[in-house]
Amino acid sequence: MYSRLRNGFRQTVKHRLASQRSYSNEVLRKKENLSKNLQVGKTIHGFLCTEIESIQEYNMTAYFLTHERTKTEYLHLERDDSNNVFSVGFRTTPLDSMGTPHILEHTVLCGSEKYPVRDPFFKMLNRSLATFMNALTGPDYTFYPFSSQNEIDYRNLQKVYLDAVFRPNLTRLDFLQEGWRLEHSNLEDKNSDLIFKGVVYNEMKGAFSETSSLFGQKFINTILPKGTYGYVSGGDPLCIPQLTHEHLKNFHATYYHPSNSRMYSYGSFPLEANLKFINEAYLSKYEYLDPKNTVVASQERWKEPRRAEMNCRVDQYGGPVEKQNQIAIGYVMSDITNIYETFTMLALAELMIIGPNSAFYKSLIEKNISGGYNSLTGYENQIRDTMFVVGLRDVETSKFETIEKIANQTLEEIYEKGFEKAHIESVLHGFELSIKHQSPKFGLNLLFNLMPLWNHNGPILNALKVNKLLGRLKENLMTPNYVKNIIEKYFIQNNHKLVMTMLPDPKFDDVFNEAESKLLKSKVSSLSANDKEAIYKEGLELSKVQKEVQNLDVLPCLKMEEIVANKTAPSLKHSVSETIPLQLCEANTNGVTYFKGILGTDSLGDSERKMLPFFNYILDKFDTKSYNYRDFDKHVSKCTSGLSAITHITEHVGQSGQYEQGILINSHCLDHNLPKMLDIWQEIFKKPNFSNSERMAMLLNNYCSSLTNGIVSSGHTYAVQAARSLISSVDECKENLLGIQHVTIMQEVQKTQKTEDIQSVIESISENVLKGNNLRAAFHYCNTNNDVHEYIDKFCKDLCNANDNQEVNRINWTDSKSMNKDNRGIHIAMNIPVNFCAKVIPTVAYTHPDYAKLRVLSVFLSSKYLHPIVREQNGAYGGRAMLSFDGIFSYYSYRDPNSKVTLDVFDETANWLTKNANLIDEQNLFESKLTIMQQMDQPIAEYMKGVDLFLYGLSYDLWKTQRERVLAVKSEDLVEVCLKYLTNDKWAAKCVIGDGGAQDLKKGDEVWQKVSGPQQ
Ligand SMILES: [Zn+2]
Repeated sequence: MYSRLRNGFRQTVKHRLASQRSYSNEVLRKKENLSKNLQVGKTIHGFLCTEIESIQEYNMTAYFLTHERTKTEYLHLERDDSNNVFSVGFRTTPLDSMGTPHILEHTVLCGSEKYPVRDPFFKMLNRSLATFMNALTGPDYTFYPFSSQNEIDYRNLQKVYLDAVFRPNLTRLDFLQEGWRLEHSNLEDKNSDLIFKGVVYNEMKGAFSETSSLFGQKFINTILPKGTYGYVSGGDPLCIPQLTHEHLKNFHATYYHPSNSRMYSYGSFPLEANLKFINEAYLSKYEYLDPKNTVVASQERWKEPRRAEMNCRVDQYGGPVEKQNQIAIGYVMSDITNIYETFTMLALAELMIIGPNSAFYKSLIEKNISGGYNSLTGYENQIRDTMFVVGLRDVETSKFETIEKIANQTLEEIYEKGFEKAHIESVLHGFELSIKHQSPKFGLNLLFNLMPLWNHNGPILNALKVNKLLGRLKENLMTPNYVKNIIEKYFIQNNHKLVMTMLPDPKFDDVFNEAESKLLKSKVSSLSANDKEAIYKEGLELSKVQKEVQNLDVLPCLKMEEIVANKTAPSLKHSVSETIPLQLCEANTNGVTYFKGILGTDSLGDSERKMLPFFNYILDKFDTKSYNYRDFDKHVSKCTSGLSAITHITEHVGQSGQYEQGILINSHCLDHNLPKMLDIWQEIFKKPNFSNSERMAMLLNNYCSSLTNGIVSSGHTYAVQAARSLISSVDECKENLLGIQHVTIMQEVQKTQKTEDIQSVIESISENVLKGNNLRAAFHYCNTNNDVHEYIDKFCKDLCNANDNQEVNRINWTDSKSMNKDNRGIHIAMNIPVNFCAKVIPTVAYTHPDYAKLRVLSVFLSSKYLHPIVREQNGAYGGRAMLSFDGIFSYYSYRDPNSKVTLDVFDETANWLTKNANLIDEQNLFESKLTIMQQMDQPIAEYMKGVDLFLYGLSYDLWKTQRERVLAVKSEDLVEVCLKYLTNDKWAAKCVIGDGGAQDLKKGDEVWQKVSGPQQ
């Protein structure tokens, strides 16, 4: 089954703010069915098995069961994969915008009957070896998935999850904390102003200030105005304050009922134990409740196309205001349950939208009248009525009409001429390759893809049989009439079409603020004296409860002896072919060969280096001397997964202040395409051709437009990065290439430089960098790929010129220059309603014995100090500490309403720990270690084995030593390293991104500078 989770629609992801390393542990031996007892028609622990299917393409068996009493549906995918998944989900389809499902998702995690502790997921993070733990709210469903490789752990998590969803406490204080409340701006002072507060309330204010998520939300509300899609499932900040505690509880009773739930398990753990526990502990205690009120009806199709216009805030760090408009043209397509049609549409959307050979790319993007596609573009099959959208960002309003006209002509043309055969073949090849590619989180991905379909009772087992769907699609796409009919039905004759435009309004924030204060006034004026007294008391009570130390002993926890080291040294072969160092790894890659390469960029001058990310962006999008870019793209996608090039900067694991900078290139292909894939890289190295200036200008435009996307959603990463750049020149370099500074630099380039100047910089980078003797390479392949060595040798020989420098290119460490040791701060002023704060302190690098102690300390502080204070008391969405390879100890907060207080919390660390040293007991220490084990023991995808060594110089032995050191850390070590490295007399730097609460951030002798973020 195919699907893409796109960011145009809201997905709530709790807790895990830091990016996760990818993992996977697929083993593809076919095993005997584990669940031999199960047969169709047989009942087991109250569940009737209704279907058993073998899914050959994924080497697994699917079991579908229905609980007889409650009709709870259960899907089990049995597969020889140690990374087991479990999930429980509900169809949540509100008919208002109060955000009930979203607030419920938060409040069920505030404590349940058996586990009366706040935030059990966050607390379980330290008591478990989970490889994934989350709660997600979609437009019409909410689900709670986790994964783990340890069976004891898996059972522990299952208990906590099921109790949370079926038996939550949902107390009034939980509702006030997570949903919304009125509270005195000074808790102690009855006469201080009342303001709106609440975790979801603030979160949605943030989400509504992000232009692309707002457009996505309003688009879906407008094109599907009837029923649940007409509302904001996450909550409209101006509607949230209508929600009552009563309504929340009622919603839970009907929607979080077993009869409205779907459960999923995946992997190698026995199914029976799941069924037995679920039935005995929960389902057997319920009666059936017809979930008919949760059903989403298919929407009646329009007789006439419609149009709509909306406003958004001016993007201070976007392009010129007059160009900040967006347009989206959308069509409602087939019903999600029609799996073959949705499968076909995915392929058609790719043919129509993606890459230089697609019709819309040629007609719209290459006209260079916009900043490229916007985030709504694509085929959306996550909701009942699927839809196709093509949209552009950064366009002038005067171009709207032209764009519509071109879009219509493009569809007419597709209708007349169909698609080119070679183009169809390359899209189908992409599908085939992605079925073989054993992506990380396989069981979770299947769940994410199946959930929307299952939510509307679609045929999920058939959707898993992709080969069958693909076979039929291959035949149909090659039949011109078939394509013609589909285009006619879904586009030419389709009246359920919406053209929506979005224009920036300088008064946008004022409008919201006014509405908010009007709402506040009306709420406050309707309060009786008694209400006011209650609010005052509840405010104090909530604050008291938030500060209470909770008894976590009720939560299950793994024990030290249950942690088993599961990794062995990868079998790597190292050799040198010509001047190219090779790292070869034979692995279980399922018929796919993977290539990775690092190209050093040490030789570049400053003007070239700052353009490096742009160079990476265009590397696979240009002509070569033998192909024009369209033919090249066709060729590339017919034989490979596509090419990727990204900026690579890595710190030395043993030496602070040393780093490597370069370009990481990679691609993969079906085994038999290896020679072709290597030829393609050869072509890029030897025959680049950047002379097409029109294309250069257009790609620069699109690149700059894409840069400001996502600044707000990863603000904490940018804040840490900017703070780091004040204490390390490695990070100064990173800031220029990957940080907010890069956005500013590129905006300057776009404004001031001529295309031919940019071209000559790009050519110079290409001459300097794209050379065989500048490369080191890694390959992962199966033992069935017999000729792999021969091809790799030929590749190396062809790349290396005899008369070039014959030195072998190992990791090339660069010394950083020393920095001025003032305590500095940077306030990056940006027009966003929340802040991101960071503080960084240099300590010791990975191989130093103190590193493991600091690492444990960072986890301990995150869960026992920062999370309770910065999130639970101070109202930020998150707050954490972490440690990088080179030993920069970083604190950060995420979506923070009060930066000054948060920075003080960071500064108070050593004092707090000294006073609370008794908190570092055996259990808490163990929990901190367990969190680190989670990261270190993550399953690794076959194609990622040994990659840490290749990329960062981090060997298995170093990893093993680190693991032993972490497990050996003692309580007193934490206080010791805290006082040694983190006291306030140590050199540090800070950063705040946002309006800073308009506070003076400077403290003591700190030197602060204020800069404006990326400019108009
Ligand atoms: Zn949320």
